Amino acid sequence: MLYTPSELEQELGVPAYSIRDWVKLGMPHERDKRERLWINGIEFAQWVNRIRKKGAHTRLKKDEAFCLHCKQAVRLDHPQVSQKGNHILLSGQCPNCGHSIHRGGHVDPSQ
Ligand SMILES: [Zn+2]
Repeated sequence: MLYTPSELEQELGVPAYSIRDWVKLGMPHERDKRERLWINGIEFAQWVNRIRKKGAHTRLKKDEAFCLHCKQAVRLDHPQVSQKGNHILLSGQCPNCGHSIHRGGHVDPSQ
């Protein structure tokens, strides 16, 4: 299934501008005749996993997220948590490069 950046934003809660940023980092994508950006959901998930595997051998701590620019786990500056249903989204800034980072997750039902 193909998504536009704004559809992906709704699915994942990640701002469309971050998604456009990831394109520059080599995120798999397609463009149609009108230069619109389309992202294959499965390829996107595989790309994220591939990048994460390179650096993150340790489990991320609660206030950490994986920076796709620095390719390492960092402690977020100004972390903010938002919750929608049982999806949680941790957003903040990378202390190394200043890029926005978003980490999605699920609420642990045992908590
Ligand atoms: Zn960074």
